Amino acid sequence: MSLVVQKYGGSSLADAESIKRVAHRIVETKKAGNDVCVVVSAMGDTTDELLDLAEQVSPVPPPREMDMLLTAGERMSMALVAMAIADLGHSVRSFTGSQAGVITDAAHGKAKIIDVTPGRITSALGDRHIVIVAGFQGVSQGTKEITTLGRGGSDTTAVALAAALEADVCEIYTDVDGIFTADPRVVPSARKISSISHDEMLEMAASGAKILHLRCVEYARRFNMPIHVRSSFSSKEGTWVVTADPEGTQDMEEPIIAGVAHDRSEAKITVVGVPDEPGRAGQIFTTVAKAQVNIDMIVQNVSEADTGRTDISFTLPMSDGQRAVEALMGTKDEVGFASIQYDDQIGKLSLVGAGMRTNPGVSATFFSALAGAGINIEMISTSEIRISVVTRIDQLDEALRAVHTAFDLDTEGEAVVYGGTGR
Ligand code: ASP
Ligand code: MG
Repeated sequence: MSLVVQKYGGSSLADAESIKRVAHRIVETKKAGNDVCVVVSAMGDTTDELLDLAEQVSPVPPPREMDMLLTAGERMSMALVAMAIADLGHSVRSFTGSQAGVITDAAHGKAKIIDVTPGRITSALGDRHIVIVAGFQGVSQGTKEITTLGRGGSDTTAVALAAALEADVCEIYTDVDGIFTADPRVVPSARKISSISHDEMLEMAASGAKILHLRCVEYARRFNMPIHVRSSFSSKEGTWVVTADPEGTQDMEEPIIAGVAHDRSEAKITVVGVPDEPGRAGQIFTTVAKAQVNIDMIVQNVSEADTGRTDISFTLPMSDGQRAVEALMGTKDEVGFASIQYDDQIGKLSLVGAGMRTNPGVSATFFSALAGAGINIEMISTSEIRISVVTRIDQLDEALRAVHTAFDLDTEGEAVVYGGTGR
C-alpha cells in the first residue's frame, strides 16, 4: 500500500460541482488501495477576493489579521471537500494547517515552515480516514499565531507534508496537463515536459514560472521528494519533477533546454550619475537591503571617462518599487548620485536547461533568435543552467515565442488550459 499526498489548486475547486468532482477523484485513489492525504487551496479566486475586501476596509491591515482572514479561504475548501467525500460514503477528517502540525516562523504573510509534526494526520490515516488539510497556513512556534506561507503556498504545504509523512509521491493537481516548455497561455505551441529535474524546476520557478511555488521545489529537492504535476480535469500522465540522474548517464535524447519562463512582476531602478569610485555600489545595495528588498539582476554601465560617473541599474519585485525608491532618495547626497529612474514596463525571459552546461552554442542561438525578432535586450544575467534577459514588456510575448521556436520546442497539438481565470 502506498501513501499518496495530493494537492488541489483553487481552479480545481472553483465551485460545488468541481468540489464533488475532486472528491470522486480522491475516493478513487483511496479505493485503489492507497492511504490518501489531500492538501487544498482556497476556492477559485477566493484569496484575491479576500485581499480586495481587506483593502476596502483598511489600506494597511495588520498582518496578523490579514493571515486570520486569508486562512479562512483554505478552511472553507477543506471542510467542503471533506463533506463531499463523506457524502460518497467514505470516512474523512479535515485539519487546519495548525492541527496538521505545520510549524512556521512568525513572519505573517510569508512564513517559512520550520518543522512538520503530523501526529494527528498519521493517526487519522491509521484509523483509515481520508485526510484533508488546509494548505498555505501554519502556526508560529514562537508567537503561537496563525501564519500564511505566501501566495501559492499550498504547494509547499503539500510537499512538506509528503516529506514528513514519507509519502511515496506528492501529486499536485492543477488546471493544465503538467509543466510545459513555456506558459501555454502565451505560447500555444508549448509542449508538455515528461520529466524535469529539481534543479531545472527551481530555476524555472525562480524565473517566474507560476506552475509550482518556488519554496515547494526547494523543499522537494532538499527531501528528494518526487512531484507529479498533473491536471485534475483529465487522467493524463503529467510531468514528473525528480532528482537528476545521479550517475549523470544522460539519455542521448535528453533535451538541452527544459523550457522558457517569463516574469512580468519586476521593475527596474536606475541610479543615474553615481560617482565611479569604490564603495558607492556598496552604499546603494546596503540601502536597498535595509529596506527589505530582494534584488534580481544588476548592471553597471561603463563610466564615461570625462564625467567620472556611472549608471547602476537593477531589477526588483514591482511591489517593492516604491519602498526602494524612497529609501534610495534618502541617500542621494551621501552617495552623490544625480537622479533615480523607475521603470515598471519591463519583462524578463529566462531559458533553462541542464544541458547548457555541456552544449556550446546555446547563447548564440538564444541571442540570434531575439535579434531575428527585433527584440532589444536591456539586461542579461546567467547561471550554470539559465540565461535571462530583460526586454520591454510589450515585446515579451514575441520574444518568448521566438526563443521557443529557435530551440525546437514547438509542438503541433495545442496545450489545453482547463480552468482558472489566470488572475
Ligand atoms: N490560496 C493561496 C493563494 O491563492 C494559496 C495557494 O493557492 O496555494 O495564493
Ligand atoms: Mg496556487
